[in-house]
Amino acid sequence: MNGARQRRPAAAAETPDALSRRSTATGRPPRALPCNVPIKPRDRVCQLIARFRAVYPDAHCELTFKNPLQLLIATILSAQCTDKRVNMVTPALFKKYKTAADCAQADPAIFQEEIRSSGFFRSKTKSILGACKAIAEKYEGKVPDTMDALVELPGVGRKTANVVLGNAFRKSEGIVVDTHVARLSQRLRLTRETDATKIEQDLMKIVPREYWTIWSHWLIWHGRRRCFARKPDCRNCEVLNLCPSGPVFIRTGEAREVENARDTRGVKPRVSRGTFSA
Ligand code: SF4
Repeated sequence: MNGARQRRPAAAAETPDALSRRSTATGRPPRALPCNVPIKPRDRVCQLIARFRAVYPDAHCELTFKNPLQLLIATILSAQCTDKRVNMVTPALFKKYKTAADCAQADPAIFQEEIRSSGFFRSKTKSILGACKAIAEKYEGKVPDTMDALVELPGVGRKTANVVLGNAFRKSEGIVVDTHVARLSQRLRLTRETDATKIEQDLMKIVPREYWTIWSHWLIWHGRRRCFARKPDCRNCEVLNLCPSGPVFIRTGEAREVENARDTRGVKPRVSRGTFSA
């Protein structure tokens, strides 16, 4: 014995599946780590996946739809509007306008009134009727299933395209970044970006591809149920020990950092009230 301590080999990072299996076997949430452990974001994401899967086993898109066209329209309507409100507007809309051609021929003034309660009704009417016209004329009435084609449609941005691809076509082309995903990704320190496109790029590097669609549902569900914008419920948060912001918010009593976030030019994040982004 030379007295020198033998260094233990570093533990290999567990996959989300292994963590979930262990959680199910013991009936307890996966391994609890102390707050603020300096584990790499990619390893923390694995732990977060296992935890979110246990907490929100039924997470799904909360917009009501039966086909890709309905989801596209509902997603455009959901900008700056709650899914609950959209789900109140769409039944009558989908009953009246069954195809892209039906929508393309709609009278804009009437359509505006039909969607008025969802807010931004003029811009949304322009986007929906424009997109439906393009779908009817260029794609024989079928919503295209590629990112390139979707973002070419009037009023359709990457976020809407990701929602449609992930939930109607089961294709993982990207990660939906809405206000909840942006806020939680910042609080969980998975990104330092404030621009939705850059946040998506950061997430795509650390979230395994097979989880891209469900990942945004988990963050949206957590954002709506626990990690509220102004008063996050950190004390009862199921991922507190994996969240670097939680202890700070609890100590200071305020979710201040994110509220005061600025990008490199000193500009506030775009994910703020009053903007319309598809
Ligand atoms: S600990 Fe607080 S800030 Fe972190 S995810 Fe939970 S609720 Fe949000």
